[in-house]
Amino acid sequence: MQIIDSIHEWKKIRETLQNESIGFVPTMGNLHAGHASLLKRSIHENSTTILSIFVNPTQFNDANDLSRYPKTLEADLDIAKDLGVDYVFFPNTDMMYPDKYRYKVTENAFSAQLEGQHRPGHFDGVLTVVLKLFNLIKPHKAYFGEKDRQQLLLIQDMVKVLFLDIEIIPCPTIRDASGLALSSRNQFLSIENKLLASRFPAILQSNKALEEIIGQLSNLGFVVDYVEDYGQYRFGAVKIQSVRLIDNFDIPTTDDSVVRRRVYEQ
Ligand code: AMP
Repeated sequence: MQIIDSIHEWKKIRETLQNESIGFVPTMGNLHAGHASLLKRSIHENSTTILSIFVNPTQFNDANDLSRYPKTLEADLDIAKDLGVDYVFFPNTDMMYPDKYRYKVTENAFSAQLEGQHRPGHFDGVLTVVLKLFNLIKPHKAYFGEKDRQQLLLIQDMVKVLFLDIEIIPCPTIRDASGLALSSRNQFLSIENKLLASRFPAILQSNKALEEIIGQLSNLGFVVDYVEDYGQYRFGAVKIQSVRLIDNFDIPTTDDSVVRRRVYEQ
């Protein structure tokens, strides 16, 4: 496994990979089983897999969230190596933003809703860095988690409208035994708060009115940023003290025919 921290060096390597199928997994590091599932899939489906580790400052709207974002490079490299990653692209902010973020990608509708409404500018940062990484890595396939469903939908949309020749592969959310979606920020939860956090997914996907769900979460002590149905998905974001959790599910239904159709489609 090679670790590359120079764009110049990466471009030289990329030229030697013309005959390979290139799978790409962009991350902010602090790898867990969620990231590993994306990497495993890429390794399975491509001859070469590139992992990027870059804590992208432009997608943080909260300076505290950025400064305390966990950095565990050595452990990340061990995980990547054990899985069979070929290259780790590890750029710094000056390399990724030689323009100091004068240029950015902005989507003007969906990105202002849900997460975007509570984290202004977040998706500008995400889309901008993902486009830059796509232009550098030049992958055939790129892997994104359904845990960040709004991000995934926006990236799929960007790829389509900007005519990028990249296949976006959605990967299912990996959860711990309690049902809580794995996230790098979960480690900031105390034991009691982790127990509380594990109730969030079940309540979010319960077959109740949105107001009732919001009420139930608030009564338990969550600060609810939003619980909303959008398209075919239910999205939710809550805070426990300073830790923010997001999750999403297919909108639950009691309609038997829909349930049957879903089973049939699998
Ligand atoms: P991050 O490092 O948090 O920016 O995440 C990098 C990629 O891993 C994104 O595509 C995330 O959606 C994905 N990811 C993060 N957590 C999970 C999870 N629990 N299950 C599946 N994918 C995940």
